[in-house]
Amino acid sequence: MPRPVIAIPASTAPEPWYSPSFTLPVSYLRAVEAAGAVPLLIQPTADLEILESLYSRCDGLLLAGGEDIHPSNYGAAPHPKLELTNTQRDAAELWLARRALAEGMPIFGICRGIQLLNVAMGGTLYQDLAAERPGPIDHAAGDACRDFRLLSHPIELAADSWTAELLGTASLAVNSLHHQAIRDVAPGLRAVGYAPDGLIEAVEGAGSGFIAAVQSHPELIWQDADPRWAQVFAGFVAQLR
Ligand code: MN
Repeated sequence: MPRPVIAIPASTAPEPWYSPSFTLPVSYLRAVEAAGAVPLLIQPTADLEILESLYSRCDGLLLAGGEDIHPSNYGAAPHPKLELTNTQRDAAELWLARRALAEGMPIFGICRGIQLLNVAMGGTLYQDLAAERPGPIDHAAGDACRDFRLLSHPIELAADSWTAELLGTASLAVNSLHHQAIRDVAPGLRAVGYAPDGLIEAVEGAGSGFIAAVQSHPELIWQDADPRWAQVFAGFVAQLR
């Protein structure tokens, strides 16, 4: 049986060298490859025929980390602490996510990906946690010390969630590299994981069709800091077969 293909929309390089470039951290590709699938980078084009053509070759959708999602996508005005956005990527990913949702293509989201999924399904975001939802946990702790594998805060998962089942535990520590997060969870999503400050750290689909997403970065830790996440990537790939 051929290995399933997972679409991963790319980002835009923040510092163009020769010309603007599309980019994606290698860690996403290696995690998907190790789990038995073939990653297919999707360039964020506005040409829907091209997106359609690429989408039609894929069995699953992985929404990766990256820029802030522009708040116009969920009906909010930009907050002064909004960081770099990429409206071209927003549009392409929202198209892909809604297409996958409509057709029941399995979706897994990471960091920006959990936020994109929430926005695609009608939810909203905190644009800057430190300004809009200050609390005892620094959710950008890994960014601050440039240690992306630092397991900086615990989360608690619903014991009956798919994510807890794959990890083999409902309580664990995760890395945290985000300044945005889910504010109002979308209808159709179920919050299944929380940080101790009450922030949503994991969601899953409330209906049929496979949907799961996390606010942390398992693609950075499955090889060493917490190998249990390899089981989650493998579990996602198993949904594709
Ligand atoms: Mn966090």
